[in-house]
Amino acid sequence: MSLAHVKHWVFDMDGTLTVAVHDFAAIRVALDIAPADDILTHLAALPAAEAAAKHAWLLEHERELALGSVAATGAVELVRDLAARGCRLGILTRNAQELAHITLKAIGLADCFAVEDVLGRDDAPPKPDPGGLLKLAQAWEVAPAEMVMVGDYRFDLDCGRAAGAQTVLVNVPENPWPELADWHAKDCAALRQMI
Ligand SMILES: [Mg+2]
Repeated sequence: MSLAHVKHWVFDMDGTLTVAVHDFAAIRVALDIAPADDILTHLAALPAAEAAAKHAWLLEHERELALGSVAATGAVELVRDLAARGCRLGILTRNAQELAHITLKAIGLADCFAVEDVLGRDDAPPKPDPGGLLKLAQAWEVAPAEMVMVGDYRFDLDCGRAAGAQTVLVNVPENPWPELADWHAKDCAALRQMI
């Protein structure tokens, strides 16, 4: 299959469509999470009150980041190009859905995504779980094999693989996960040349 024929595209947000700004090490320190632990998994295992307080802190911290979002190289042109070709576009992020909308607005892409096709951490189990991608496949009435998942991290690729979708790795100069990525582009501008 060639990327030029793909009509259903799902994007990770942070580090894929935007320049990555999360300082996960600092977040772990602020929330008293061990360096090796996954942040969302850690929060999910806490007593309810503590989890709620830490989720609230995280949301405020990420809101500030979302408001200052900067588009990644070529991301706006790529997404606009796909939208102009009539492709169906979705977002699958471990960030909160309301922050994903703020981010899309900040980088000028809000009109390219249907509101219901932007899935955040409360809308589906977090990547690498394939649940969010499968939810979009069902909503769009397409087989996962007809979709591509585009991301900058192995969770995005694992998610795509587990769902049975095609996978694209961007914004990583050398591909550390060749077995997980069907395509690799150094940035979204290079990816646009492949469609
Ligand atoms: Mg990312």
